[in-house]
Amino acid sequence: MVFAKKKWGQNFLVDNNLLNKIVKTVNIASDENILEIGPGQGALSEKLVDICNELHMVEIDRDLIAILNQHDKLSQTNIINQDILKFNLSSLGLNNLIVIGNIPYNITSPIIFWLVEHFNSWDRAYLMVQKELAERLTAKIGTKDYSRITVMTGLYFDINISFLISPNVFLPRPKVQSAFIEVIKKEDSYYKDINLKSFDQIVRMAFNQRRKMLRNSLSSLDINMENCSVNFTMRPEQLTIEDFIEISNNIIS
Ligand code: SAM
Repeated sequence: MVFAKKKWGQNFLVDNNLLNKIVKTVNIASDENILEIGPGQGALSEKLVDICNELHMVEIDRDLIAILNQHDKLSQTNIINQDILKFNLSSLGLNNLIVIGNIPYNITSPIIFWLVEHFNSWDRAYLMVQKELAERLTAKIGTKDYSRITVMTGLYFDINISFLISPNVFLPRPKVQSAFIEVIKKEDSYYKDINLKSFDQIVRMAFNQRRKMLRNSLSSLDINMENCSVNFTMRPEQLTIEDFIEISNNIIS
């Protein structure tokens, strides 16, 4: 047992039932490969290795790497000592790749955008995240949780909450509840032709002033409103992703 390091969000899973539930949920086929983010001391890894073709792990903490390297069950796996945010997933050169991680909650959003960046290198992903963030990632239009991150990730992914997780299954025990989420990629045709810079700008500006009507929150932009079917007296939580795409396609630059 090592001391958990707060700076790297180290809360280790210690509940065998929960680990088995994760294994069942990820439903890995025998020809699928796994990239595990932040394997820690290998509690989940030692189960994943039995159900996949190849298991690869990226762990930032050198002390944990030493433990993983001594783990008998992980002797045939690929243990990489790196920051996942700097890791080039395509360097593994693998097809049928599933990403799984009980990740540090302070870098959840960067990891989700890392998944966007490496979109073509993986098939589906499962992450453990803070419950509140899971609710925002899966929020329905018109709700208070529908926010910038819902729309930005919704451009690329369909995200579902598989189940909620109590703090009791971790050591040390975190202060927050968690959720296990499934990240399914949308067809790339969905976002391929959009102007991502404009889309990002509009979504950011609209949600920065979410109580305001769009015609006010976006007033500093030159938008061809007549060409849009969107009603600019609406507030951002009333807009679908397609509405945001339509506005971003009608910015006059
Ligand atoms: N998977 C283990 C478990 O469930 O017991 C550990 C989970 S713990 C919440 C998060 C793990 O991610 C830790 O082992 C931590 O060292 C590692 N980690 C933190 N930041 C990381 C990063 N940027 N890249 C890779 N691993 C990271």
